[in-house]
Amino acid sequence: MRTISVLGATGSIGASTLDLIRRAPQDWRVVALTANGNAADLARLAREFGAEIAVVADEASLPALREALAGTGIAAAGGAAALVEAAARGADVTVAAIVGCAGLAPAMAAIECGKTVALANKEALVSAGDVMMQAVERHGATLLPVDSEHNAIFQCLQGNDLADVRWITLTASGGPFRDWSLDQLHAATPAQAIKHPNWDMGAKISVDSATMFNKGLELIEAWHLFPVGLERLRIIVHPQSVIHSMVEYRDGSTLAQLGPSDMRVPIASTLAWPARMDTPCAPLDLAAIGELTFRAPDEVRFPATRLARQAAEAGGAAPAVLNAANEVAVAAFLAGQIGFTRIPVVVERMLEQLALPAPLTLDAVIAADAQARVRARELLETL
Ligand code: NAD
Ligand code: MG
Repeated sequence: MRTISVLGATGSIGASTLDLIRRAPQDWRVVALTANGNAADLARLAREFGAEIAVVADEASLPALREALAGTGIAAAGGAAALVEAAARGADVTVAAIVGCAGLAPAMAAIECGKTVALANKEALVSAGDVMMQAVERHGATLLPVDSEHNAIFQCLQGNDLADVRWITLTASGGPFRDWSLDQLHAATPAQAIKHPNWDMGAKISVDSATMFNKGLELIEAWHLFPVGLERLRIIVHPQSVIHSMVEYRDGSTLAQLGPSDMRVPIASTLAWPARMDTPCAPLDLAAIGELTFRAPDEVRFPATRLARQAAEAGGAAPAVLNAANEVAVAAFLAGQIGFTRIPVVVERMLEQLALPAPLTLDAVIAADAQARVRARELLETL
Protein backbone atom coordinates (compact mmCIF):
# COMPACT_ATOMS: atom_id res chain seq x y z
CA MET A 1 0.00 0.00 0.00
CA ARG A 2 1.25 3.49 -0.91
CA THR A 3 0.14 6.94 0.20
CA ILE A 4 -1.16 9.55 -2.24
CA SER A 5 -2.14 13.23 -2.21
CA VAL A 6 -4.17 14.87 -4.95
CA LEU A 7 -3.72 18.63 -5.33
CA GLY A 8 -6.69 19.87 -7.34
CA ALA A 9 -8.83 16.89 -6.36
CA THR A 10 -12.12 18.43 -7.52
CA GLY A 11 -10.94 19.11 -11.08
CA SER A 12 -10.97 17.03 -14.22
CA ILE A 13 -7.55 15.41 -13.62
CA GLY A 14 -8.36 15.07 -9.91
CA ALA A 15 -11.55 13.18 -10.74
CA SER A 16 -9.77 10.87 -13.18
CA THR A 17 -7.07 10.16 -10.60
CA LEU A 18 -9.56 9.42 -7.84
CA ASP A 19 -11.54 7.19 -10.18
CA LEU A 20 -8.45 4.99 -10.51
CA ILE A 21 -7.83 5.02 -6.74
CA ARG A 22 -11.48 4.10 -6.15
CA ARG A 23 -10.98 0.96 -8.24
CA ALA A 24 -7.86 -0.15 -6.32
CA PRO A 25 -8.57 0.83 -2.69
CA GLN A 26 -6.28 -1.90 -1.36
CA ASP A 27 -3.28 -0.19 -3.01
CA TRP A 28 -3.70 3.37 -1.72
CA ARG A 29 -4.12 5.43 1.43
CA VAL A 30 -5.13 9.04 0.77
CA VAL A 31 -3.22 11.75 2.66
CA ALA A 32 -4.29 15.19 1.38
CA LEU A 33 -7.01 16.31 -1.03
CA THR A 34 -7.19 19.97 -2.04
CA ALA A 35 -9.42 22.33 -4.02
CA ASN A 36 -9.75 26.01 -4.62
CA GLY A 37 -13.14 26.76 -3.11
CA ASN A 38 -15.52 23.90 -3.72
CA ALA A 39 -15.90 22.84 -0.06
CA ALA A 40 -18.91 20.57 -0.55
CA ASP A 41 -17.32 18.51 -3.32
CA LEU A 42 -14.00 18.39 -1.52
CA ALA A 43 -15.59 17.23 1.75
CA ARG A 44 -17.52 14.52 -0.08
CA LEU A 45 -14.28 13.23 -1.65
CA ALA A 46 -12.35 13.47 1.64
CA ARG A 47 -15.02 11.38 3.37
CA GLU A 48 -15.24 8.83 0.59
CA PHE A 49 -11.47 8.31 0.50
CA GLY A 50 -10.83 8.70 4.22
CA ALA A 51 -8.28 11.45 3.65
CA GLU A 52 -6.09 12.69 6.50
CA ILE A 53 -6.64 16.32 5.55
CA ALA A 54 -8.71 18.42 3.14
CA VAL A 55 -7.54 21.90 2.16
CA VAL A 56 -9.27 24.76 0.37
CA ALA A 57 -6.95 27.39 -1.10
CA ASP A 58 -9.64 30.03 -0.74
CA GLU A 59 -9.89 30.72 3.00
CA ALA A 60 -13.45 32.00 2.67
CA SER A 61 -14.48 28.39 1.99
CA LEU A 62 -12.88 27.02 5.17
CA PRO A 63 -15.92 27.41 7.48
CA ALA A 64 -18.07 25.41 5.04
CA LEU A 65 -15.34 22.74 4.77
CA ARG A 66 -15.03 22.51 8.58
CA GLU A 67 -18.74 22.11 8.95
CA ALA A 68 -18.96 19.44 6.26
CA LEU A 69 -16.15 17.44 7.88
CA ALA A 70 -17.22 17.87 11.51
CA GLY A 71 -17.03 14.63 13.45
CA THR A 72 -15.17 12.72 10.73
CA GLY A 73 -11.68 13.05 12.20
CA ILE A 74 -10.53 14.51 8.86
CA ALA A 75 -8.55 17.70 9.36
CA ALA A 76 -9.73 20.80 7.48
CA ALA A 77 -7.50 23.72 6.56
CA GLY A 78 -7.56 26.77 4.30
CA GLY A 79 -5.28 29.29 2.62
CA ALA A 80 -2.10 29.30 0.59
CA ALA A 81 0.20 28.27 3.46
CA ALA A 82 -2.08 25.36 4.42
CA LEU A 83 -2.05 24.21 0.81
CA VAL A 84 1.75 24.15 0.77
CA GLU A 85 1.86 22.36 4.14
CA ALA A 86 -0.51 19.69 2.86
CA ALA A 87 1.65 19.17 -0.22
CA ALA A 88 4.69 18.94 2.06
CA ARG A 89 3.23 15.96 3.94
CA GLY A 90 5.29 13.90 1.55
CA ALA A 91 2.93 11.24 0.28
CA ASP A 92 4.62 8.51 -1.74
CA VAL A 93 2.88 9.99 -4.80
CA THR A 94 1.59 13.56 -5.11
CA VAL A 95 -0.58 14.29 -8.13
CA ALA A 96 -0.11 17.98 -8.95
CA ALA A 97 -3.38 18.79 -10.73
CA ILE A 98 -4.08 22.40 -9.79
CA VAL A 99 -4.69 24.61 -12.82
CA GLY A 100 -2.39 27.57 -13.41
CA CYS A 101 0.66 29.03 -11.73
CA ALA A 102 -1.36 28.89 -8.47
CA GLY A 103 -0.16 25.28 -8.28
CA LEU A 104 3.52 26.16 -8.36
CA ALA A 105 4.29 26.54 -4.64
CA PRO A 106 2.47 23.35 -3.61
CA ALA A 107 4.09 21.41 -6.46
CA MET A 108 7.50 22.63 -5.32
CA ALA A 109 6.71 21.63 -1.72
CA ALA A 110 5.90 18.13 -2.92
CA ILE A 111 9.09 17.95 -4.98
CA GLU A 112 11.13 18.99 -1.95
CA CYS A 113 9.91 15.86 -0.13
CA GLY A 114 11.98 13.81 -2.58
CA LYS A 115 9.18 11.39 -3.44
CA THR A 116 7.18 10.92 -6.64
CA VAL A 117 5.33 13.86 -8.16
CA ALA A 118 2.92 13.13 -11.01
CA LEU A 119 2.72 16.50 -12.73
CA ALA A 120 -0.36 17.61 -14.66
CA ASN A 121 0.05 21.29 -13.73
CA LYS A 122 2.03 22.35 -16.81
CA GLU A 123 1.76 26.09 -16.03
CA ALA A 124 3.99 25.55 -12.97
CA LEU A 125 6.72 23.91 -15.02
CA VAL A 126 6.45 26.49 -17.81
CA SER A 127 6.85 29.37 -15.35
CA ALA A 128 9.49 27.86 -13.11
CA GLY A 129 11.15 25.27 -15.32
CA ASP A 130 14.76 25.77 -14.22
CA VAL A 131 13.94 26.19 -10.54
CA MET A 132 11.68 23.17 -10.57
CA MET A 133 14.04 20.84 -12.45
CA GLN A 134 16.90 21.85 -10.14
CA ALA A 135 14.73 21.04 -7.11
CA VAL A 136 13.88 17.64 -8.59
CA GLU A 137 17.60 16.95 -8.93
CA ARG A 138 18.59 18.34 -5.54
CA HIS A 139 15.89 16.49 -3.58
CA GLY A 140 16.09 13.25 -5.57
CA ALA A 141 12.41 13.46 -6.48
CA THR A 142 10.86 11.47 -9.31
CA LEU A 143 8.91 13.75 -11.64
CA LEU A 144 6.49 11.81 -13.85
CA PRO A 145 4.57 13.67 -16.57
CA VAL A 146 0.79 13.25 -16.59
CA ASP A 147 0.20 15.44 -19.64
CA SER A 148 -0.65 12.86 -22.30
CA GLU A 149 1.99 14.05 -24.80
CA HIS A 150 4.78 14.13 -22.23
CA ASN A 151 3.69 10.86 -20.75
CA ALA A 152 3.88 9.40 -24.25
CA ILE A 153 7.36 10.83 -24.81
CA PHE A 154 8.48 9.61 -21.38
CA GLN A 155 7.35 6.10 -22.29
CA CYS A 156 8.99 6.25 -25.75
CA LEU A 157 12.29 7.28 -24.15
CA GLN A 158 12.49 4.34 -21.74
CA GLY A 159 15.59 2.28 -22.38
CA ASN A 160 16.96 4.88 -24.81
CA ASP A 161 19.54 7.61 -24.65
CA LEU A 162 18.52 11.27 -25.08
CA ALA A 163 21.70 11.75 -27.12
CA ASP A 164 20.25 9.43 -29.79
CA VAL A 165 17.07 11.47 -30.25
CA ARG A 166 16.63 13.15 -33.63
CA TRP A 167 13.18 14.66 -33.03
CA ILE A 168 10.53 14.69 -30.41
CA THR A 169 7.17 15.34 -32.05
CA LEU A 170 4.28 16.57 -29.94
CA THR A 171 0.92 15.81 -31.46
CA ALA A 172 -1.90 18.35 -31.22
CA SER A 173 -5.58 17.75 -31.86
CA GLY A 174 -5.80 21.28 -33.21
CA GLY A 175 -8.73 21.97 -30.90
CA PRO A 176 -12.36 22.74 -31.76
CA PHE A 177 -11.42 25.56 -34.19
CA ARG A 178 -8.77 23.82 -36.23
CA ASP A 179 -10.77 24.26 -39.45
CA TRP A 180 -12.13 27.74 -38.70
CA SER A 181 -11.15 30.80 -40.73
CA LEU A 182 -9.66 33.87 -39.06
CA ASP A 183 -13.01 35.65 -39.50
CA GLN A 184 -14.81 32.85 -37.69
CA LEU A 185 -12.15 32.85 -34.94
CA HIS A 186 -12.78 36.54 -34.26
CA ALA A 187 -16.37 35.67 -33.34
CA ALA A 188 -15.66 32.47 -31.36
CA THR A 189 -17.52 32.31 -28.02
CA PRO A 190 -16.42 30.77 -24.70
CA ALA A 191 -19.09 28.06 -25.02
CA GLN A 192 -17.69 27.05 -28.43
CA ALA A 193 -14.10 27.16 -27.16
CA ILE A 194 -14.64 24.84 -24.21
CA LYS A 195 -16.31 22.16 -26.32
CA HIS A 196 -13.30 20.07 -27.22
CA PRO A 197 -13.85 17.44 -29.95
CA ASN A 198 -11.74 14.68 -28.32
CA TRP A 199 -11.09 15.43 -24.65
CA ASP A 200 -13.26 16.36 -21.68
CA MET A 201 -11.16 18.83 -19.64
CA GLY A 202 -11.27 21.88 -17.35
CA ALA A 203 -12.29 25.24 -18.88
CA LYS A 204 -8.83 26.84 -18.92
CA ILE A 205 -7.03 24.03 -20.73
CA SER A 206 -9.95 23.72 -23.14
CA VAL A 207 -9.53 27.37 -24.18
CA ASP A 208 -5.76 26.77 -24.39
CA SER A 209 -6.45 23.88 -26.69
CA ALA A 210 -8.62 26.11 -28.90
CA THR A 211 -5.92 28.82 -29.15
CA MET A 212 -3.09 26.25 -29.38
CA PHE A 213 -1.51 27.86 -26.31
CA ASN A 214 -1.87 24.42 -24.78
CA LYS A 215 0.61 23.13 -27.34
CA GLY A 216 2.81 26.17 -26.81
CA LEU A 217 2.90 25.53 -23.06
CA GLU A 218 3.56 21.86 -23.79
CA LEU A 219 6.50 22.76 -26.02
CA ILE A 220 8.12 24.59 -23.07
CA GLU A 221 7.11 21.76 -20.74
CA ALA A 222 8.83 19.23 -23.03
CA TRP A 223 11.91 21.47 -23.32
CA HIS A 224 12.40 21.19 -19.53
CA LEU A 225 11.42 17.55 -19.10
CA PHE A 226 13.41 16.19 -22.04
CA PRO A 227 16.53 18.33 -22.55
CA VAL A 228 17.28 17.60 -26.20
CA GLY A 229 17.23 21.29 -27.20
CA LEU A 230 14.38 23.40 -28.54
CA GLU A 231 15.38 22.78 -32.15
CA ARG A 232 14.65 19.06 -31.77
CA LEU A 233 11.08 19.65 -30.61
CA ARG A 234 8.37 19.69 -33.26
CA ILE A 235 4.59 19.93 -33.34
CA ILE A 236 2.20 18.19 -35.70
CA VAL A 237 -1.58 18.44 -35.85
CA HIS A 238 -3.21 15.03 -35.58
CA PRO A 239 -6.97 15.53 -35.27
CA GLN A 240 -7.82 12.02 -34.00
CA SER A 241 -5.63 12.28 -30.85
CA VAL A 242 -4.71 8.61 -31.06
CA ILE A 243 -0.93 9.02 -31.26
CA HIS A 244 -0.11 11.02 -28.15
CA SER A 245 3.43 11.90 -29.26
CA MET A 246 6.50 10.34 -30.85
CA VAL A 247 10.26 10.12 -30.59
CA GLU A 248 12.43 9.63 -33.66
CA TYR A 249 15.94 8.26 -33.10
CA ARG A 250 19.05 8.80 -35.20
CA ASP A 251 18.80 5.35 -36.78
CA GLY A 252 15.43 6.29 -38.33
CA SER A 253 13.23 4.45 -35.81
CA THR A 254 10.22 6.36 -34.58
CA LEU A 255 8.54 5.20 -31.37
CA ALA A 256 5.02 6.40 -30.63
CA GLN A 257 2.56 5.87 -27.81
CA LEU A 258 -1.08 5.34 -28.78
CA GLY A 259 -4.20 5.15 -26.70
CA PRO A 260 -7.78 6.31 -26.23
CA SER A 261 -8.40 10.00 -25.45
CA ASP A 262 -8.82 9.26 -21.76
CA MET A 263 -6.51 10.89 -19.22
CA ARG A 264 -6.84 7.85 -16.96
CA VAL A 265 -4.34 6.11 -19.28
CA PRO A 266 -1.40 8.51 -18.69
CA ILE A 267 -2.42 9.01 -15.04
CA ALA A 268 -2.36 5.23 -14.51
CA SER A 269 1.05 5.07 -16.13
CA THR A 270 2.39 7.50 -13.51
CA LEU A 271 0.60 5.85 -10.57
CA ALA A 272 1.94 2.41 -11.40
CA TRP A 273 5.32 3.40 -12.85
CA PRO A 274 7.56 1.53 -13.50
CA ALA A 275 4.93 -1.22 -13.42
CA ARG A 276 1.47 -1.20 -15.04
CA MET A 277 -2.02 -1.23 -13.59
CA ASP A 278 -5.53 -1.96 -14.87
CA THR A 279 -7.76 0.87 -16.08
CA PRO A 280 -11.39 0.73 -17.21
CA CYS A 281 -10.48 2.62 -20.41
CA ALA A 282 -11.87 1.36 -23.71
CA PRO A 283 -9.29 -0.64 -25.66
CA LEU A 284 -7.93 1.07 -28.74
CA ASP A 285 -10.02 0.04 -31.74
CA LEU A 286 -7.98 1.15 -34.74
CA ALA A 287 -10.27 -0.53 -37.27
CA ALA A 288 -13.17 1.56 -35.92
CA ILE A 289 -11.05 4.72 -36.04
CA GLY A 290 -10.15 3.88 -39.63
CA GLU A 291 -7.53 6.48 -40.39
CA LEU A 292 -4.98 8.66 -38.67
CA THR A 293 -4.24 11.98 -40.35
CA PHE A 294 -1.60 14.65 -39.88
CA ARG A 295 -0.99 18.23 -40.96
CA ALA A 296 1.42 21.04 -40.22
CA PRO A 297 0.30 23.62 -37.63
CA ASP A 298 -0.94 26.96 -39.01
CA GLU A 299 0.82 29.68 -37.02
CA VAL A 300 -1.05 32.46 -38.83
CA ARG A 301 -4.46 31.52 -37.44
CA PHE A 302 -2.89 30.12 -34.25
CA PRO A 303 0.22 32.19 -33.29
CA ALA A 304 0.49 30.56 -29.85
CA THR A 305 3.11 27.96 -30.73
CA ARG A 306 5.29 30.60 -32.38
CA LEU A 307 5.02 32.81 -29.29
CA ALA A 308 5.90 29.93 -26.98
CA ARG A 309 8.96 29.07 -29.02
CA GLN A 310 10.01 32.73 -28.95
CA ALA A 311 9.54 32.85 -25.18
CA ALA A 312 11.69 29.76 -24.71
CA GLU A 313 14.39 31.18 -26.97
CA ALA A 314 14.30 34.53 -25.15
CA GLY A 315 14.73 32.75 -21.84
CA GLY A 316 14.79 34.69 -18.57
CA ALA A 317 11.29 35.12 -17.23
CA ALA A 318 9.75 35.13 -20.73
CA PRO A 319 8.03 31.74 -20.31
CA ALA A 320 6.56 32.89 -16.97
CA VAL A 321 5.37 36.10 -18.65
CA LEU A 322 3.86 34.11 -21.52
CA ASN A 323 2.02 31.88 -19.08
CA ALA A 324 0.78 34.64 -16.78
CA ALA A 325 -0.41 36.81 -19.68
CA ASN A 326 -2.20 33.82 -21.15
CA GLU A 327 -3.90 33.00 -17.83
CA VAL A 328 -5.14 36.58 -17.53
CA ALA A 329 -6.28 36.71 -21.17
CA VAL A 330 -8.09 33.35 -20.96
CA ALA A 331 -9.93 34.47 -17.81
CA ALA A 332 -10.92 37.71 -19.59
CA PHE A 333 -12.13 35.76 -22.63
CA LEU A 334 -14.16 33.37 -20.46
CA ALA A 335 -15.67 36.39 -18.69
CA GLY A 336 -16.72 37.89 -22.01
CA GLN A 337 -14.31 40.84 -21.74
CA ILE A 338 -12.20 40.17 -24.84
CA GLY A 339 -12.59 38.32 -28.10
CA PHE A 340 -10.93 34.98 -28.77
CA THR A 341 -8.25 36.33 -31.13
CA ARG A 342 -7.23 38.94 -28.54
CA ILE A 343 -5.71 36.22 -26.36
CA PRO A 344 -2.48 35.85 -28.39
CA VAL A 345 -2.37 39.63 -28.86
CA VAL A 346 -2.25 40.16 -25.08
CA VAL A 347 0.47 37.53 -24.74
CA GLU A 348 2.57 38.94 -27.58
CA ARG A 349 2.38 42.51 -26.20
CA MET A 350 3.45 41.31 -22.76
CA LEU A 351 6.39 39.39 -24.23
CA GLU A 352 7.45 42.55 -26.07
CA GLN A 353 7.12 44.78 -23.02
CA LEU A 354 8.41 42.64 -20.18
CA ALA A 355 11.97 41.45 -20.58
CA LEU A 356 12.51 40.27 -17.04
CA PRO A 357 15.75 38.60 -15.91
CA ALA A 358 15.77 34.88 -15.27
CA PRO A 359 14.11 34.11 -11.95
CA LEU A 360 16.50 31.90 -10.00
CA THR A 361 14.31 31.16 -7.00
CA LEU A 362 10.70 30.17 -6.45
CA ASP A 363 9.95 33.58 -4.93
CA ALA A 364 11.42 35.32 -7.98
CA VAL A 365 9.23 33.25 -10.32
CA ILE A 366 6.16 34.10 -8.25
CA ALA A 367 7.12 37.80 -8.37
CA ALA A 368 7.62 37.72 -12.17
CA ASP A 369 4.29 35.95 -12.57
CA ALA A 370 2.54 38.54 -10.37
CA GLN A 371 4.09 41.46 -12.23
CA ALA A 372 3.09 40.04 -15.62
CA ARG A 373 -0.49 39.61 -14.35
CA VAL A 374 -0.71 43.22 -13.22
CA ARG A 375 0.63 44.46 -16.56
CA ALA A 376 -1.62 42.16 -18.57
CA ARG A 377 -4.68 43.39 -16.66
CA GLU A 378 -3.63 46.99 -17.32
CA LEU A 379 -3.35 46.17 -21.00
CA LEU A 380 -6.83 44.61 -20.98
CA GLU A 381 -8.25 47.92 -19.79
CA THR A 382 -6.95 49.59 -22.96
CA LEU A 383 -8.21 46.98 -25.45
P1 NAD B 1 -9.87 21.91 -13.58
O1 NAD B 1 -10.23 23.33 -13.74
O2 NAD B 1 -10.87 20.87 -13.94
O3 NAD B 1 -9.43 21.63 -12.05
C1 NAD B 1 -8.50 22.45 -11.40
C2 NAD B 1 -8.33 22.07 -9.95
O4 NAD B 1 -7.47 23.04 -9.33
C3 NAD B 1 -9.63 22.09 -9.14
O5 NAD B 1 -9.56 21.12 -8.12
C4 NAD B 1 -9.62 23.49 -8.52
O6 NAD B 1 -10.38 23.56 -7.33
C5 NAD B 1 -8.15 23.70 -8.25
N1 NAD B 1 -7.77 25.11 -8.31
C6 NAD B 1 -8.13 26.04 -9.24
N2 NAD B 1 -7.60 27.23 -8.97
C7 NAD B 1 -6.88 27.08 -7.83
C8 NAD B 1 -6.12 27.96 -7.03
N3 NAD B 1 -5.99 29.27 -7.33
N4 NAD B 1 -5.48 27.46 -5.93
C9 NAD B 1 -5.62 26.17 -5.60
N5 NAD B 1 -6.35 25.28 -6.32
C10 NAD B 1 -6.98 25.73 -7.42
O7 NAD B 1 -8.52 21.69 -14.39
P2 NAD B 1 -7.98 20.35 -15.09
O8 NAD B 1 -8.50 20.27 -16.47
O9 NAD B 1 -8.13 19.19 -14.17
O10 NAD B 1 -6.43 20.72 -15.24
C11 NAD B 1 -5.54 20.68 -14.16
C12 NAD B 1 -4.11 20.80 -14.69
O11 NAD B 1 -3.83 19.64 -15.47
C13 NAD B 1 -3.90 22.00 -15.62
O12 NAD B 1 -2.61 22.49 -15.45
C14 NAD B 1 -4.03 21.40 -17.00
O13 NAD B 1 -3.29 22.10 -17.98
C15 NAD B 1 -3.44 20.01 -16.78
N6 NAD B 1 -3.92 19.01 -17.72
C16 NAD B 1 -5.24 18.70 -17.78
C17 NAD B 1 -5.70 17.75 -18.68
C18 NAD B 1 -7.16 17.36 -18.73
O14 NAD B 1 -7.52 16.47 -19.49
N7 NAD B 1 -8.03 17.97 -17.97
C19 NAD B 1 -4.79 17.13 -19.55
C20 NAD B 1 -3.46 17.46 -19.46
C21 NAD B 1 -3.02 18.40 -18.54
MG1 MG C 1 -1.56 17.57 -23.26
